[in-house]
Amino acid sequence: MNLDFDQAAERMIRTQLRPRGIRDPRVLEAMRRVERHRFAPQQLTPAQVYGDHALPTELGQTLSQPFVVAHMTALLDVQPGQRVLEIGTGSGYHTAVLAELGASVISVERHAALSEAAGQRLHVACPKADLTLVVGDGSLGWPDLAPYDRILVTAAAPSLPVALDQQLEPHGRMVIPLGDRNEQVLAVFTRDGDELQRHDDLACRFVPMIGSDAWPG
Ligand code: SAH
Repeated sequence: MNLDFDQAAERMIRTQLRPRGIRDPRVLEAMRRVERHRFAPQQLTPAQVYGDHALPTELGQTLSQPFVVAHMTALLDVQPGQRVLEIGTGSGYHTAVLAELGASVISVERHAALSEAAGQRLHVACPKADLTLVVGDGSLGWPDLAPYDRILVTAAAPSLPVALDQQLEPHGRMVIPLGDRNEQVLAVFTRDGDELQRHDDLACRFVPMIGSDAWPG
């Protein structure tokens, strides 16, 4: 255990997450336990890794700001044992937070190199987690293992991809940034029987989802 990193994680919870309304003790505990520094570029200091901002990662992608990860996770309302589809594995950090909540996570990433690197980090950071990392176009969801109780999308889409709607369980819930390439809103979809309800949460900015039912590359 590295005390500096532990202290930085505690500070992140005290100064960034609690004051902005993250109350769910399970989410706060997952944010405390998952070691963000294992997913961040190596040369950064604890203050930088646990700072109030996104971090640049490989291939021009980003590791989301801690508050955004915690808030999206709280909105998703993940319960132990649920099957969660994540689109955009990236560094694997958010994947680890979902696994820490006891979910069985299927995570799709379009870049094979990112998926592989994330898999190596996740193997060390959460060896007991129930994780399936796959490479493909997440705008098509992952039909082989559908349906899902929860769907978390960590890349921005112009509109709700049809496949994600189809692969969500009857009482499922999905969080996805929707908008244009520069600015989006966190849309929360809940399915109640046949009806899909949309509720718009905070404004946000994510890297684009590139795929056949999203933006062209
Ligand atoms: N959740 C990540 C942040 C991901 S950034 C983390 O915690 O680090 C968004 C990721 O979505 C990028 O890695 C990008 O390559 C990926 N992505 C973009 N379009 C995609 C698609 N159609 N299918 C799967 N992944 C996609």
